[in-house]
Amino acid sequence: MTRRGQPRPTLPQHLLGVDEARQRILEHFAPLPPRRVPLLDALGLVLAEPICAQESVPPFTNAAMDGYAVRADDTGGASRERPVRLRIVGEAPAGGATTRWRTDRTQRVEAGTAVRVMTGAVLPPGADAVVRFEETDEVDDPSPVRETVSIFRPVSAGENVRPAGEDIRAGTTVLHPGTILGPAHLGILAALGRTWVLVHPRPEVAILATGDEVVPPDYPLYPGQIRNSNSYTLAALVRQTGGIPRLIGIAADQEADLEARLRAARGADLILTSGGVSQGDYDRVKEFLRARGRFEIWQVRIKPGKPMAFGFIDGVPVIALPGNPVAAVVAFLQFARPALLRLLGYPELEPLRVRAVLTRRIDNSGQRRHFVRATVEVRDGTLLVTPVPNQGAGVLSGLVAGNCLAIIPEDWPEAPAGSLVEVEFYEPSQVYRLLATRMLNATIPEGSPPT
Ligand code: AMP
Ligand code: MG
Repeated sequence: MTRRGQPRPTLPQHLLGVDEARQRILEHFAPLPPRRVPLLDALGLVLAEPICAQESVPPFTNAAMDGYAVRADDTGGASRERPVRLRIVGEAPAGGATTRWRTDRTQRVEAGTAVRVMTGAVLPPGADAVVRFEETDEVDDPSPVRETVSIFRPVSAGENVRPAGEDIRAGTTVLHPGTILGPAHLGILAALGRTWVLVHPRPEVAILATGDEVVPPDYPLYPGQIRNSNSYTLAALVRQTGGIPRLIGIAADQEADLEARLRAARGADLILTSGGVSQGDYDRVKEFLRARGRFEIWQVRIKPGKPMAFGFIDGVPVIALPGNPVAAVVAFLQFARPALLRLLGYPELEPLRVRAVLTRRIDNSGQRRHFVRATVEVRDGTLLVTPVPNQGAGVLSGLVAGNCLAIIPEDWPEAPAGSLVEVEFYEPSQVYRLLATRMLNATIPEGSPPT
Protein backbone atom coordinates (compact mmCIF):
# COMPACT_ATOMS: atom_id res chain seq x y z
CA MET A 1 0.00 0.00 0.00
CA THR A 2 1.13 3.51 -0.60
CA ARG A 3 0.16 7.16 -0.43
CA ARG A 4 -3.53 7.82 0.15
CA GLY A 5 -3.94 4.15 0.93
CA GLN A 6 -4.12 3.14 -2.71
CA PRO A 7 -2.38 -0.01 -3.79
CA ARG A 8 0.92 0.68 -5.51
CA PRO A 9 0.50 -0.11 -9.19
CA THR A 10 2.31 -3.33 -9.91
CA LEU A 11 4.90 -2.58 -12.52
CA PRO A 12 6.57 -5.50 -14.19
CA GLN A 13 10.26 -5.17 -13.46
CA HIS A 14 12.95 -7.12 -15.23
CA LEU A 15 15.90 -8.21 -13.18
CA LEU A 16 18.84 -8.11 -15.52
CA GLY A 17 22.53 -8.88 -15.38
CA VAL A 18 24.90 -6.01 -16.22
CA ASP A 19 26.18 -7.69 -19.39
CA GLU A 20 22.70 -8.52 -20.58
CA ALA A 21 21.48 -4.98 -19.99
CA ARG A 22 24.46 -3.60 -21.88
CA GLN A 23 23.84 -6.04 -24.71
CA ARG A 24 20.19 -5.03 -24.97
CA ILE A 25 21.19 -1.38 -25.20
CA LEU A 26 24.06 -1.84 -27.63
CA GLU A 27 21.87 -3.76 -30.07
CA HIS A 28 20.26 -0.45 -30.93
CA PHE A 29 23.45 1.49 -31.64
CA ALA A 30 25.53 1.68 -34.80
CA PRO A 31 28.19 4.19 -35.95
CA LEU A 32 26.65 7.53 -36.96
CA PRO A 33 26.60 8.19 -40.73
CA PRO A 34 29.93 9.70 -41.81
CA ARG A 35 30.21 13.46 -42.11
CA ARG A 36 32.98 15.76 -43.34
CA VAL A 37 34.50 17.81 -40.50
CA PRO A 38 37.34 20.35 -40.31
CA LEU A 39 40.62 18.72 -39.41
CA LEU A 40 40.88 20.20 -35.93
CA ASP A 41 37.44 18.89 -34.98
CA ALA A 42 38.45 15.36 -35.91
CA LEU A 43 40.75 14.60 -32.97
CA GLY A 44 39.69 11.30 -31.40
CA LEU A 45 37.13 10.57 -34.12
CA VAL A 46 37.06 7.49 -36.32
CA LEU A 47 38.07 7.86 -39.96
CA ALA A 48 35.39 6.80 -42.45
CA GLU A 49 37.38 7.01 -45.71
CA PRO A 50 40.71 5.65 -46.93
CA ILE A 51 43.39 8.32 -47.21
CA CYS A 52 45.49 7.84 -50.34
CA ALA A 53 48.53 10.04 -50.79
CA GLN A 54 48.33 12.10 -53.98
CA GLU A 55 51.76 13.51 -53.25
CA SER A 56 54.94 12.39 -51.58
CA VAL A 57 55.99 13.71 -48.19
CA PRO A 58 58.45 15.30 -48.24
CA PRO A 59 57.68 16.31 -51.82
CA PHE A 60 61.37 16.82 -52.72
CA THR A 61 64.73 15.57 -51.52
CA ASN A 62 66.05 18.08 -48.99
CA ALA A 63 68.73 18.90 -46.47
CA ALA A 64 68.14 17.38 -43.02
CA MET A 65 70.74 19.67 -41.41
CA ASP A 66 72.18 23.14 -41.81
CA GLY A 67 75.51 22.74 -43.59
CA TYR A 68 77.05 22.19 -47.00
CA ALA A 69 75.56 20.09 -49.77
CA VAL A 70 78.41 18.12 -51.29
CA ARG A 71 79.27 15.09 -53.36
CA ALA A 72 80.09 12.44 -50.77
CA ASP A 73 82.97 11.18 -52.94
CA ASP A 74 84.71 14.54 -52.54
CA THR A 75 84.92 14.18 -48.75
CA GLY A 76 86.81 10.86 -48.57
CA GLY A 77 89.60 10.93 -45.99
CA ALA A 78 88.71 14.40 -44.68
CA SER A 79 89.82 15.16 -41.11
CA ARG A 80 90.42 18.19 -38.93
CA GLU A 81 94.16 17.85 -39.56
CA ARG A 82 93.77 17.26 -43.29
CA PRO A 83 90.53 18.96 -44.32
CA VAL A 84 89.06 18.77 -47.80
CA ARG A 85 88.63 22.23 -49.28
CA LEU A 86 85.60 22.86 -51.48
CA ARG A 87 84.63 25.94 -53.45
CA ILE A 88 81.28 27.42 -52.38
CA VAL A 89 79.10 27.98 -55.44
CA GLY A 90 75.80 29.08 -53.94
CA GLU A 91 73.31 29.12 -51.15
CA ALA A 92 70.00 27.31 -50.73
CA PRO A 93 67.64 28.51 -47.99
CA ALA A 94 64.50 26.58 -47.14
CA GLY A 95 61.56 27.57 -49.32
CA GLY A 96 61.62 28.82 -52.88
CA ALA A 97 64.20 28.03 -55.50
CA THR A 98 67.87 27.68 -54.78
CA THR A 99 69.26 31.20 -54.89
CA ARG A 100 72.16 31.66 -57.19
CA TRP A 101 75.29 33.07 -55.82
CA ARG A 102 77.49 35.20 -58.11
CA THR A 103 76.17 33.41 -61.19
CA ASP A 104 72.92 32.94 -63.08
CA ARG A 105 73.44 29.29 -63.73
CA THR A 106 71.29 26.65 -62.08
CA GLN A 107 73.03 25.58 -58.93
CA ARG A 108 74.79 22.30 -59.47
CA VAL A 109 77.28 20.76 -57.18
CA GLU A 110 80.17 19.69 -59.35
CA ALA A 111 83.28 17.91 -58.18
CA GLY A 112 85.20 20.12 -55.77
CA THR A 113 82.25 22.42 -54.99
CA ALA A 114 79.62 22.81 -52.28
CA VAL A 115 76.37 24.73 -51.78
CA ARG A 116 75.57 26.23 -48.41
CA VAL A 117 72.17 24.77 -47.43
CA MET A 118 69.65 25.24 -44.63
CA THR A 119 67.51 22.48 -43.14
CA GLY A 120 64.54 21.85 -45.44
CA ALA A 121 66.19 23.35 -48.54
CA VAL A 122 65.93 21.47 -51.83
CA LEU A 123 69.09 19.42 -52.17
CA PRO A 124 70.94 21.02 -55.12
CA PRO A 125 71.39 18.78 -58.16
CA GLY A 126 74.69 16.95 -58.15
CA ALA A 127 74.89 16.80 -54.34
CA ASP A 128 74.20 13.57 -52.49
CA ALA A 129 75.03 14.45 -48.88
CA VAL A 130 75.18 17.32 -46.41
CA VAL A 131 78.10 18.10 -44.13
CA ARG A 132 76.92 19.83 -40.96
CA PHE A 133 78.36 23.28 -40.18
CA GLU A 134 79.83 21.74 -37.03
CA GLU A 135 82.05 19.56 -39.19
CA THR A 136 83.43 22.43 -41.25
CA ASP A 137 85.64 25.41 -40.52
CA GLU A 138 82.54 27.57 -40.42
CA VAL A 139 82.34 26.96 -36.67
CA ASP A 140 85.82 28.48 -36.21
CA ASP A 141 85.26 31.33 -38.66
CA PRO A 142 81.64 32.27 -39.11
CA SER A 143 82.44 35.24 -41.43
CA PRO A 144 79.54 35.79 -43.81
CA VAL A 145 81.70 36.15 -46.91
CA ARG A 146 83.83 33.18 -47.78
CA GLU A 147 84.72 31.46 -50.97
CA THR A 148 85.75 28.05 -49.72
CA VAL A 149 84.87 25.72 -46.92
CA SER A 150 87.05 23.14 -45.20
CA ILE A 151 85.39 19.80 -44.50
CA PHE A 152 86.59 17.97 -41.38
CA ARG A 153 84.85 14.63 -41.77
CA PRO A 154 83.90 12.34 -44.64
CA VAL A 155 80.18 11.84 -45.26
CA SER A 156 78.55 8.95 -47.04
CA ALA A 157 75.99 9.32 -49.82
CA GLY A 158 72.57 10.06 -48.33
CA GLU A 159 73.93 11.36 -45.04
CA ASN A 160 71.88 14.25 -43.60
CA VAL A 161 69.57 14.05 -46.59
CA ARG A 162 65.81 13.38 -46.49
CA PRO A 163 64.77 11.70 -49.71
CA ALA A 164 61.47 12.66 -51.36
CA GLY A 165 58.73 10.32 -50.11
CA GLU A 166 60.77 9.22 -47.09
CA ASP A 167 57.68 9.70 -44.89
CA ILE A 168 54.85 9.03 -47.36
CA ARG A 169 55.15 7.78 -50.92
CA ALA A 170 52.65 9.16 -53.45
CA GLY A 171 50.07 6.57 -54.47
CA THR A 172 50.05 4.64 -51.21
CA THR A 173 47.10 4.35 -48.81
CA VAL A 174 48.34 5.93 -45.61
CA LEU A 175 45.29 5.72 -43.36
CA HIS A 176 42.50 3.17 -43.39
CA PRO A 177 38.84 3.59 -42.44
CA GLY A 178 38.36 2.72 -38.77
CA THR A 179 41.53 4.54 -37.69
CA ILE A 180 41.10 6.62 -34.55
CA LEU A 181 42.56 10.02 -35.43
CA GLY A 182 45.28 11.27 -33.08
CA PRO A 183 47.56 14.31 -33.38
CA ALA A 184 49.99 12.60 -35.79
CA HIS A 185 47.15 11.43 -38.04
CA LEU A 186 45.90 15.01 -38.28
CA GLY A 187 49.45 16.10 -39.13
CA ILE A 188 49.64 13.53 -41.93
CA LEU A 189 46.32 14.77 -43.34
CA ALA A 190 47.58 18.34 -43.26
CA ALA A 191 50.86 17.30 -44.90
CA LEU A 192 48.79 15.78 -47.71
CA GLY A 193 46.80 18.98 -48.18
CA ARG A 194 43.63 17.82 -46.46
CA THR A 195 41.78 20.29 -44.25
CA TRP A 196 38.50 18.35 -44.05
CA VAL A 197 38.09 14.69 -43.35
CA LEU A 198 35.24 12.17 -43.44
CA VAL A 199 34.61 10.72 -39.98
CA HIS A 200 31.84 9.32 -37.82
CA PRO A 201 30.76 12.56 -36.16
CA ARG A 202 30.44 13.30 -32.47
CA PRO A 203 27.09 12.19 -31.08
CA GLU A 204 24.92 14.90 -29.58
CA VAL A 205 23.73 13.86 -26.16
CA ALA A 206 20.81 15.62 -24.45
CA ILE A 207 21.05 15.46 -20.67
CA LEU A 208 17.98 15.86 -18.48
CA ALA A 209 17.94 15.93 -14.68
CA THR A 210 14.69 15.08 -12.92
CA GLY A 211 13.29 15.60 -9.45
CA ASP A 212 11.16 18.20 -7.66
CA GLU A 213 14.00 18.70 -5.19
CA VAL A 214 16.68 19.34 -7.80
CA VAL A 215 17.64 22.97 -8.56
CA PRO A 216 20.27 24.53 -10.84
CA PRO A 217 23.70 25.01 -9.22
CA ASP A 218 23.42 28.81 -9.22
CA TYR A 219 20.12 28.85 -7.29
CA PRO A 220 19.87 29.40 -3.54
CA LEU A 221 18.83 26.26 -1.68
CA TYR A 222 15.48 26.12 0.13
CA PRO A 223 14.83 23.38 2.67
CA GLY A 224 14.71 19.98 1.04
CA GLN A 225 16.43 21.05 -2.15
CA ILE A 226 19.70 19.86 -3.61
CA ARG A 227 21.70 21.20 -6.48
CA ASN A 228 21.84 19.45 -9.82
CA SER A 229 25.25 17.86 -9.95
CA ASN A 230 24.33 14.91 -12.18
CA SER A 231 23.92 16.93 -15.36
CA TYR A 232 27.42 18.34 -15.00
CA THR A 233 29.07 15.03 -14.14
CA LEU A 234 27.28 13.37 -17.03
CA ALA A 235 28.07 16.18 -19.47
CA ALA A 236 31.74 15.90 -18.56
CA LEU A 237 31.65 12.13 -19.04
CA VAL A 238 29.95 12.61 -22.42
CA ARG A 239 32.60 15.09 -23.49
CA GLN A 240 35.40 12.87 -22.22
CA THR A 241 33.97 10.01 -24.26
CA GLY A 242 33.89 12.14 -27.43
CA GLY A 243 30.26 13.28 -27.52
CA ILE A 244 28.73 16.75 -27.45
CA PRO A 245 26.66 17.25 -24.29
CA ARG A 246 23.57 19.45 -24.34
CA LEU A 247 21.96 20.23 -20.99
CA ILE A 248 18.20 20.42 -21.38
CA GLY A 249 17.38 21.38 -17.82
CA ILE A 250 15.66 19.85 -14.84
CA ALA A 251 12.22 18.27 -15.13
CA ALA A 252 9.84 18.29 -12.18
CA ASP A 253 8.33 14.96 -11.19
CA GLN A 254 5.30 15.42 -13.40
CA GLU A 255 4.52 14.22 -16.85
CA ALA A 256 3.75 17.54 -18.53
CA ASP A 257 7.14 18.93 -17.57
CA LEU A 258 8.96 15.76 -18.61
CA GLU A 259 7.18 15.88 -21.93
CA ALA A 260 8.05 19.51 -22.56
CA ARG A 261 11.70 19.07 -21.59
CA LEU A 262 12.18 15.94 -23.63
CA ARG A 263 10.78 17.72 -26.63
CA ALA A 264 13.84 19.96 -26.43
CA ALA A 265 15.97 16.87 -27.02
CA ARG A 266 14.74 16.36 -30.56
CA GLY A 267 17.60 15.95 -33.00
CA ALA A 268 19.88 14.46 -30.35
CA ASP A 269 21.52 11.11 -30.99
CA LEU A 270 20.99 10.01 -27.41
CA ILE A 271 19.10 11.25 -24.35
CA LEU A 272 20.40 10.63 -20.84
CA THR A 273 18.09 11.24 -17.90
CA SER A 274 18.98 10.90 -14.24
CA GLY A 275 16.59 10.10 -11.40
CA GLY A 276 12.97 9.15 -11.29
CA VAL A 277 13.33 5.49 -12.18
CA SER A 278 13.43 3.88 -8.73
CA GLN A 279 10.57 2.64 -6.56
CA GLY A 280 9.49 5.92 -4.92
CA ASP A 281 6.01 7.35 -5.18
CA TYR A 282 7.13 10.26 -7.33
CA ASP A 283 9.46 8.44 -9.64
CA ARG A 284 7.60 9.54 -12.72
CA VAL A 285 10.22 9.12 -15.40
CA LYS A 286 9.61 5.43 -15.83
CA GLU A 287 5.84 5.84 -15.96
CA PHE A 288 6.18 8.62 -18.47
CA LEU A 289 8.55 6.62 -20.62
CA ARG A 290 6.39 3.56 -20.45
CA ALA A 291 3.36 5.55 -21.56
CA ARG A 292 5.03 7.57 -24.33
CA GLY A 293 7.58 5.36 -25.90
CA ARG A 294 8.93 1.92 -26.57
CA PHE A 295 10.32 1.22 -23.16
CA GLU A 296 11.75 -1.34 -20.84
CA ILE A 297 12.17 -0.76 -17.14
CA TRP A 298 14.91 -2.74 -15.54
CA GLN A 299 16.30 -3.66 -12.19
CA VAL A 300 19.92 -4.26 -13.04
CA ARG A 301 22.18 -6.40 -10.87
CA ILE A 302 24.53 -3.50 -10.31
CA LYS A 303 25.71 -1.66 -7.21
CA PRO A 304 25.51 1.25 -6.78
CA GLY A 305 22.34 1.77 -8.80
CA LYS A 306 19.83 -0.80 -9.90
CA PRO A 307 16.83 0.99 -11.33
CA MET A 308 17.28 1.85 -15.00
CA ALA A 309 15.24 2.16 -18.13
CA PHE A 310 15.96 2.06 -21.81
CA GLY A 311 13.81 2.92 -24.78
CA PHE A 312 12.98 5.45 -27.49
CA ILE A 313 11.14 8.73 -27.62
CA ASP A 314 10.38 9.98 -31.12
CA GLY A 315 13.02 7.57 -32.35
CA VAL A 316 15.76 8.93 -30.08
CA PRO A 317 17.26 6.35 -27.72
CA VAL A 318 16.93 7.19 -24.02
CA ILE A 319 19.06 5.72 -21.28
CA ALA A 320 17.39 6.55 -17.98
CA LEU A 321 20.08 6.49 -15.29
CA PRO A 322 19.59 6.33 -11.53
CA GLY A 323 19.49 9.63 -9.61
CA ASN A 324 22.12 8.97 -6.98
CA PRO A 325 25.24 10.75 -8.23
CA VAL A 326 27.67 7.83 -7.99
CA ALA A 327 25.09 5.36 -9.29
CA ALA A 328 24.57 7.66 -12.28
CA VAL A 329 28.31 7.67 -13.02
CA VAL A 330 28.67 3.91 -12.66
CA ALA A 331 25.63 3.30 -14.87
CA PHE A 332 26.96 5.81 -17.42
CA LEU A 333 30.26 3.95 -17.58
CA GLN A 334 28.61 0.56 -17.97
CA PHE A 335 25.79 1.46 -20.36
CA ALA A 336 26.04 4.92 -21.89
CA ARG A 337 29.77 4.99 -22.55
CA PRO A 338 29.81 1.88 -24.74
CA ALA A 339 26.73 3.17 -26.59
CA LEU A 340 28.51 6.47 -27.28
CA LEU A 341 31.67 4.69 -28.39
CA ARG A 342 29.63 2.63 -30.79
CA LEU A 343 27.98 5.78 -32.23
CA LEU A 344 31.51 7.12 -32.68
CA GLY A 345 32.49 3.98 -34.56
CA TYR A 346 35.04 2.78 -32.02
CA PRO A 347 35.88 -0.89 -32.39
CA GLU A 348 36.71 -1.37 -28.70
CA LEU A 349 33.89 -0.59 -26.28
CA GLU A 350 35.38 -2.03 -23.12
CA PRO A 351 37.25 0.14 -20.63
CA LEU A 352 40.81 -0.69 -19.71
CA ARG A 353 40.87 -3.21 -16.88
CA VAL A 354 43.71 -4.63 -14.84
CA ARG A 355 43.78 -7.14 -12.02
CA ALA A 356 44.82 -6.06 -8.57
CA VAL A 357 45.05 -7.52 -5.07
CA LEU A 358 42.35 -6.33 -2.71
CA THR A 359 43.79 -5.02 0.56
CA ARG A 360 40.51 -5.09 2.52
CA ARG A 361 37.47 -7.32 2.63
CA ILE A 362 34.38 -6.13 0.76
CA ASP A 363 30.87 -7.33 1.45
CA ASN A 364 28.72 -8.13 -1.54
CA SER A 365 25.47 -9.57 -0.30
CA GLY A 366 22.62 -8.94 -2.71
CA GLN A 367 24.05 -10.71 -5.75
CA ARG A 368 24.86 -7.57 -7.65
CA ARG A 369 28.01 -6.65 -9.56
CA HIS A 370 29.58 -4.26 -7.12
CA PHE A 371 31.62 -1.33 -8.46
CA VAL A 372 33.65 -0.36 -5.43
CA ARG A 373 35.21 3.09 -5.41
CA ALA A 374 38.87 2.41 -4.76
CA THR A 375 42.47 3.47 -5.15
CA VAL A 376 44.90 1.35 -7.04
CA GLU A 377 48.63 1.73 -6.46
CA VAL A 378 51.83 -0.10 -7.26
CA ARG A 379 53.77 -1.40 -4.30
CA ASP A 380 56.85 -3.60 -4.77
CA GLY A 381 55.75 -4.30 -8.31
CA THR A 382 52.29 -5.49 -7.23
CA LEU A 383 49.02 -3.71 -7.97
CA LEU A 384 47.11 -3.18 -4.74
CA VAL A 385 43.55 -1.89 -4.61
CA THR A 386 42.05 -0.31 -1.50
CA PRO A 387 38.39 0.77 -1.22
CA VAL A 388 37.79 4.42 -0.29
CA PRO A 389 36.13 4.76 3.13
CA ASN A 390 32.69 6.02 2.12
CA GLN A 391 30.92 3.84 -0.43
CA GLY A 392 27.63 5.78 -0.36
CA ALA A 393 25.80 5.90 -3.70
CA GLY A 394 25.54 9.66 -3.35
CA VAL A 395 29.13 10.29 -2.26
CA LEU A 396 30.84 11.81 -5.30
CA SER A 397 33.90 12.57 -3.19
CA GLY A 398 34.50 8.82 -3.19
CA LEU A 399 35.16 9.00 -6.92
CA VAL A 400 37.46 11.97 -6.37
CA ALA A 401 39.36 10.28 -3.55
CA GLY A 402 39.82 7.06 -5.52
CA ASN A 403 41.14 6.42 -9.00
CA CYS A 404 39.29 3.31 -10.09
CA LEU A 405 36.34 0.98 -9.61
CA ALA A 406 37.11 -2.45 -8.19
CA ILE A 407 34.63 -4.94 -9.60
CA ILE A 408 33.23 -7.62 -7.31
CA PRO A 409 31.34 -10.26 -9.32
CA GLU A 410 27.64 -10.77 -8.57
CA ASP A 411 28.16 -14.37 -7.46
CA TRP A 412 30.70 -13.47 -4.77
CA PRO A 413 28.90 -12.87 -1.44
CA GLU A 414 32.12 -11.21 -0.28
CA ALA A 415 35.57 -10.45 -1.55
CA PRO A 416 38.12 -11.37 1.08
CA ALA A 417 41.27 -9.32 1.58
CA GLY A 418 43.98 -10.74 -0.65
CA SER A 419 41.64 -11.75 -3.45
CA LEU A 420 42.45 -10.80 -7.02
CA VAL A 421 39.81 -8.49 -8.50
CA GLU A 422 39.36 -6.62 -11.76
CA VAL A 423 39.81 -2.89 -11.62
CA GLU A 424 38.31 -0.44 -14.12
CA PHE A 425 39.46 3.12 -14.70
CA TYR A 426 37.07 6.01 -15.19
CA GLU A 427 39.75 8.65 -15.70
CA PRO A 428 42.04 8.09 -18.72
CA SER A 429 44.94 9.96 -17.12
CA GLN A 430 44.94 7.45 -14.25
CA VAL A 431 45.78 4.67 -16.67
CA TYR A 432 48.81 6.52 -17.99
CA ARG A 433 49.89 7.41 -14.48
CA LEU A 434 49.68 3.82 -13.39
CA LEU A 435 51.49 2.55 -16.45
CA ALA A 436 54.24 5.07 -15.88
CA THR A 437 54.59 4.09 -12.21
CA ARG A 438 54.73 0.46 -13.19
CA MET A 439 57.40 1.08 -15.78
CA LEU A 440 59.44 3.27 -13.49
CA ASN A 441 59.36 0.57 -10.83
CA ALA A 442 60.08 -2.23 -13.26
CA THR A 443 63.48 -3.84 -12.82
CA ILE A 444 65.76 -3.30 -15.78
CA PRO A 445 66.92 -6.67 -17.13
CA GLU A 446 70.61 -7.36 -16.66
CA GLY A 447 72.82 -6.41 -19.56
CA SER A 448 70.54 -3.71 -20.89
CA PRO A 449 72.23 -0.37 -21.41
CA PRO A 450 71.76 2.31 -18.74
CA THR A 451 69.19 4.92 -19.74
P1 AMP B 1 15.80 9.27 -7.57
O1 AMP B 1 16.41 8.20 -8.40
O2 AMP B 1 15.06 10.29 -8.35
O3 AMP B 1 14.96 8.69 -6.47
O4 AMP B 1 17.00 10.03 -6.88
C1 AMP B 1 17.88 9.36 -6.00
C2 AMP B 1 18.72 10.33 -5.23
O5 AMP B 1 19.53 11.06 -6.11
C3 AMP B 1 17.91 11.38 -4.47
O6 AMP B 1 18.53 11.61 -3.22
C4 AMP B 1 17.98 12.59 -5.34
O7 AMP B 1 17.84 13.77 -4.62
C5 AMP B 1 19.37 12.46 -5.93
N1 AMP B 1 19.43 13.13 -7.22
C6 AMP B 1 18.54 12.98 -8.23
N2 AMP B 1 18.85 13.75 -9.28
C7 AMP B 1 19.98 14.43 -8.91
C8 AMP B 1 20.79 15.39 -9.59
N3 AMP B 1 20.50 15.82 -10.83
N4 AMP B 1 21.89 15.88 -8.96
C9 AMP B 1 22.18 15.43 -7.71
N5 AMP B 1 21.45 14.52 -7.04
C10 AMP B 1 20.34 14.02 -7.62
MG1 MG C 1 13.75 11.77 -8.10
